[in-house]
Amino acid sequence: MKEYKNTQEAVAELKKMQERMAAYSHASGMLYYDSVTGAPKETTEGRGHTMGIISEDSYRILVNEDTPVLLDYLIANNDQLDENTKLEVKELKKDYDETSKIPVDEYVQYSILLNEAENIWHKAKIKSDYAMFEPYLAKIVATTIRFAGYLDPKKKPYDVWLNEFEEDLTMEVADRYFETLRAELVPLIKKVAKSKVKIDDSFSHKNYALNKQRKFSDYIMNVMTIDRDHCAIAETEHPFTINFNKNDVRITTHYIKDNLVSSMFSVIHEGGHALYELNGGDEFMYTCLSGGTSMGIHESQSRFFENIIGRSEGFTGFLYPYLKKLFPSQFKDVTKKMLLLAINKAEPSLIRTEADELTYSMHIMIRYELEKKMISGELSTKDLPAEWNRLYKEYLGVDVPNDKEGCLQDSHWSGGAIGYFPSYSLGNAYSAQMLNAMKKDLNVDALTAKGDLKPIVEWLKEHVHKYSSSKKPPEIIRICCNEDFEPHYYTDYLKEKFSRIYELKD
Ligand code: ZN
Repeated sequence: MKEYKNTQEAVAELKKMQERMAAYSHASGMLYYDSVTGAPKETTEGRGHTMGIISEDSYRILVNEDTPVLLDYLIANNDQLDENTKLEVKELKKDYDETSKIPVDEYVQYSILLNEAENIWHKAKIKSDYAMFEPYLAKIVATTIRFAGYLDPKKKPYDVWLNEFEEDLTMEVADRYFETLRAELVPLIKKVAKSKVKIDDSFSHKNYALNKQRKFSDYIMNVMTIDRDHCAIAETEHPFTINFNKNDVRITTHYIKDNLVSSMFSVIHEGGHALYELNGGDEFMYTCLSGGTSMGIHESQSRFFENIIGRSEGFTGFLYPYLKKLFPSQFKDVTKKMLLLAINKAEPSLIRTEADELTYSMHIMIRYELEKKMISGELSTKDLPAEWNRLYKEYLGVDVPNDKEGCLQDSHWSGGAIGYFPSYSLGNAYSAQMLNAMKKDLNVDALTAKGDLKPIVEWLKEHVHKYSSSKKPPEIIRICCNEDFEPHYYTDYLKEKFSRIYELKD
């Protein structure tokens, strides 16, 4: 067993371990990125082989007999460590404990189950056959409950999983959040549906040449002050952001010929994720504190740019002359107002990923309620479709015609990601609260209308980005907003905005 002469030696070992972890994550990230961007079709096998070796090795960097000795030594000598090293030790200790609490054979069994479940889910979705997938979901739910007991037997199982995806999130906080949404948004959505304002967005579905859309993406990234020497854009089926380190971030988009706004908002959304990574603190490079702190805070950054900036009246007005020049025939009869209305068209729908800003969180709330009930045992997986359909009717007023467009639409549950959905919606709510705080320092509307996003990016860098993962989500909210998370900023923002767009009175 390893012994350390002094703290200095142990700290050097700790840093070396994290550098190795960062290198493995760089390599496997690059392989993934290559697989969805440049790799030829028939190259899966060799890459899978390499990935298998990389993931096994990277697991062993953390989980081996030396790690607990190292971490215990550093914990015993905690008073000699600087603040960031203390946080690194805490973080790695948590990772190590969690990984080693689940018995290895059960962990392996579960990854085999998830592999099968994902495969079956694909087929079940195509056939719209929930019964095919149900036995797998039942096993996933049972395992999720059992694993929660290993990770933290004192907590309620669903609280354990919420915390896995958004640290310090509990059902108590989430219940209050979703209750606010339900009370405020359900009536608003009904009013919008009855509004006399009918939005015609047919111009955005004309033919938009892909090379011009690519030029538009470059323009957007430039306006967002994204440093292209450190951030590239590629094209993939599903848009995403990946960071290898804070100096090498990649975003992707998907161009659709007869849809101008699809890629436009993907680029703005992923650009928001990219800025968070690019502006992380230098001192966290190659440590476990690098990168965004949570999925919810990450989404707050992407959605801040996508919705709050990107779908605002000011920014639409700013982009309008550029778009009119780039697409003169498609924009011939299009006014600024028509553009604003088209990108803010709100209507209840079936599919989460295509939902508008107003109705989006309702899709999440439905999933939250279902997950909560499945994990508490109140809802059997057999009864999931009926309950799914009932909630879609209640909250969005839509009838679900089949399971493909209903409870089989998302891949998350087949991948075991139970507790993940709420962070998507929390991102929206965080971003609205951040806007409120930012407005105390900046004239956000005036800057947005000029396309001058630099002060906005700088503000976010100072209050969010520069901390990388060294602060937890609730701390980031307090630093940013001088108060705890408050869901009403989000519902206030939506009420104000959509009352204006849809000319609602009262
Ligand atoms: Zn995102």
